[in-house]
Amino acid sequence: MRSESRPWLPEPAPTEHVALSIVIPVYNELAVLPLLHDRLTRVLAPLGISYELVLVDDGSRDGSGLYLVELAARYPEIKAARLSRNFGKEAALTAGLDLSVGDAVVVLDADLQDPPELIEHMLAAFHAGSDIVSMKRRSRAGESWHKRLSAHLFYRLLNRLSHIEIPADTGDFRLMSRRAVHAMQQLPERNRYMKGLFAWVGLPTHVIEYDREERAAGNTKWNVLGLFGLAFEGITSFSIAPLRWATGLGLMAALIGFSFGLWIVMGALIHGNEVGGYPSLIAVITFLGGVQLLSIGVVGEYVGKTYFEAKQRPLYVLRDVVQSPRAASATPTLPEDPSHAPAP
Ligand code: UDP
Ligand code: MG
Repeated sequence: MRSESRPWLPEPAPTEHVALSIVIPVYNELAVLPLLHDRLTRVLAPLGISYELVLVDDGSRDGSGLYLVELAARYPEIKAARLSRNFGKEAALTAGLDLSVGDAVVVLDADLQDPPELIEHMLAAFHAGSDIVSMKRRSRAGESWHKRLSAHLFYRLLNRLSHIEIPADTGDFRLMSRRAVHAMQQLPERNRYMKGLFAWVGLPTHVIEYDREERAAGNTKWNVLGLFGLAFEGITSFSIAPLRWATGLGLMAALIGFSFGLWIVMGALIHGNEVGGYPSLIAVITFLGGVQLLSIGVVGEYVGKTYFEAKQRPLYVLRDVVQSPRAASATPTLPEDPSHAPAP
């Protein structure tokens, strides 16, 4: 099934049944990876279910990729995938979803901002019949006020514009049934605004509120420009309202320009022609020029999107996938003393 929709992926090795996959995109997270594995094992081992950790290295430059491969060589529950370069979080997530085999898949950030302790509750909701369990942030610890404010405004704006309800303040932290993952894989678009795609899929969704923690170690990969880009991506992927704005704005400007022109002509006819129309002329020209450029830019954004979709490039390129065979009675072991962990 998978090789039909994603022909560039290796055929998955026949494995025993896996109840839960945890998919984690990793980009320059070397500082947090030992903590991550330790905490996940402490949370997941007591659940007594078979699970796998799908760690996708998104072209890290700090040796995270190598660290993951070494982890995978030691712990059979770890599947380490390396992308050929940095493709961005959304692509890394997609790769992780493609490689996962569990009945339920939980998507998690590497920096432990999404507390893994909640996985138990997510699984409970899954077993109660939800296909998607999305996690809504009650608070955002350690995030600056302007990030919080812009996130707030962004979600409100996005939901006004798009036809499907994209829940506010839910990040990528969520659980998906195999069915939901499969539905996600059916969406072929290159511009992957994941939150929107999750919402598009629909399926019975349960929402759990939680308090977002601070980053355990390392630095955020986002900057203001990146967030702005993501917001723009989100809006233009799920709404064509900006195209209508451009039309509306152009119409308004044309009306104002027409009335103004009429007023000037009437004035000239009634009072005679006085020299000195220069400032008003320049004002009108620059205003109209601005409106035109803006509208062309908005249209261009959608044309550009169409262009990228038309190319039908794969979303990511895998460098390798490493996983050790499981022993017959494999129960995940707690990581050893960090001093014995593979050297970073
Ligand atoms: N990430 C990634 N590729 C990128 C940027 C980020 O895989 O190009 C991963 C990163 O390693 C982390 C997750 O995406 O696991 C969220 O990133 P971050 O914590 O920097 O974002 P924030 O929580 O600040 O929004
Ligand atoms: Mg983070």
